[in-house]
Amino acid sequence: MDFELTPKQAKWRDEVRRFLAENITNELREELWTTHVDEKGPELREIRRKIGERGWYGLNWPEEFGGLGLSPIEQQILIDEFENEGIAAFDLTVTSVAPMIMRYGTEKNKADWLPGIARGEVTCAVGYSEANAGTDLANLETRAELIDGQWIINGSKLWNSRAHRASHEWLCVRTDPSAPKHEGISVIIVPTDAAGVQIEPLVTWVDNRTNQTFFTDVRVPEENLIGEVNQGWSYITGALNLERGSIASAARLRVAFDALVDLCTRGQIDGVRLADDPLVRRRLAELDADLEIAKLLNLETASLLEEGEIPTIVSSEAKVFHSELRAKLADWGMQILGMYGQLDWHDEEAPLRGHLERLYREAPLVRFGGGTNEVLRDVIAQRGHGLPSYGRSRK
Ligand SMILES: Cc1cc2nc3c(=O)[nH]c(=O)nc-3n(C[C@H](O)[C@H](O)[C@H](O)COP(=O)(O)OP(=O)(O)OC[C@H]3O[C@@H](n4cnc5c(N)ncnc54)[C@H](O)[C@@H]3O)c2cc1C
Repeated sequence: MDFELTPKQAKWRDEVRRFLAENITNELREELWTTHVDEKGPELREIRRKIGERGWYGLNWPEEFGGLGLSPIEQQILIDEFENEGIAAFDLTVTSVAPMIMRYGTEKNKADWLPGIARGEVTCAVGYSEANAGTDLANLETRAELIDGQWIINGSKLWNSRAHRASHEWLCVRTDPSAPKHEGISVIIVPTDAAGVQIEPLVTWVDNRTNQTFFTDVRVPEENLIGEVNQGWSYITGALNLERGSIASAARLRVAFDALVDLCTRGQIDGVRLADDPLVRRRLAELDADLEIAKLLNLETASLLEEGEIPTIVSSEAKVFHSELRAKLADWGMQILGMYGQLDWHDEEAPLRGHLERLYREAPLVRFGGGTNEVLRDVIAQRGHGLPSYGRSRK
């Protein structure tokens, strides 16, 4: 199998690299590292504006929807190049919401939402989970009723990440309480500044902000419904499959690994060169091989997308493998660095500016975000191999 980029893809990678070389300033690097993880400042906003100006948010969409007509592989190249610089190029609005609008949305939905997403002006928080609906998402209770041409929404979403800085909610609601629970669900786009939306912060272990968002008699026009009423379950599961693929980008882990190898070979801790320890060398070699597998799983996901598939099994495999590798890299890296590995980035003596310590605290979120790894293993066994489920069912 040939893993080299085609000349067209290599040209695209070089264009992205040129953009990054011209636009990644020392101020941006500092802002990315020191600002609250979820509250980036003016430098990041500026680079996001420039990405929107180039139409790169919609780079792999058909031109008729305001995209550039490039492929998912080119999107993956861009994601990797940005992550090499420590920046997440896209959020879920681009990688999972927009593809679902293109696939299932009405012509009006496409015209209303896609151009704004391509320019980076419409950004969505993803409102699925509730107090009693996590893994068993179809238990969700947030209600929307259609009255006089408006949806009236009541309920609340838990772990509603990005709601405080997104322009809209990609909101999953119950529209037919009398239907079987998977069949009475719809997706409605709701502006976060609509009357009756109240966003309360929840701060996580890695100082990242997520939210609980309350909806009290929130009114939105009927046409904010995506696709067809009560058909939302397939839109959500499609979006979740894409979310899993995008969670799994391995480039950022490669950057952390390369820095660790560099420190082990060139640097010393308490007068000892870490790479002289055979256990350290063995662990680095194993991590290196794992990172290569993670990268290939990303490329496999992108190539299935290129063929027009929603890659349920491969994206689940990539997400499980990548999230567990993240925890392993952070854990082993901290062990290799000894007691110094536990210092966080505020401490001047923290090796690698506390990168691995932060990665360690970030790692759990990726194991359950977008569907827990226990459940995804079930999905791989059941849908990938026809094996019986150990618990999940569609009652
Ligand atoms: C920081 C953070 C950010 C988040 N961001 C968002 C967001 O932006 N939008 C959003 O909608 N949600 C978000 N979530 C929610 C996340 O998707 C859920 O936490 C996740 O889906 C698990 O649901 P739960 O927490 O209710 O756990 P539960 O579903 O209660 O699961 C608890 C444990 O039981 C296991 N389990 C449950 N059912 C089964 C089964 N049938 N078989 C085997 N094991 C099972 C799970 O694997 C898990 O280990 C976020 C969560 C956190 C903590």
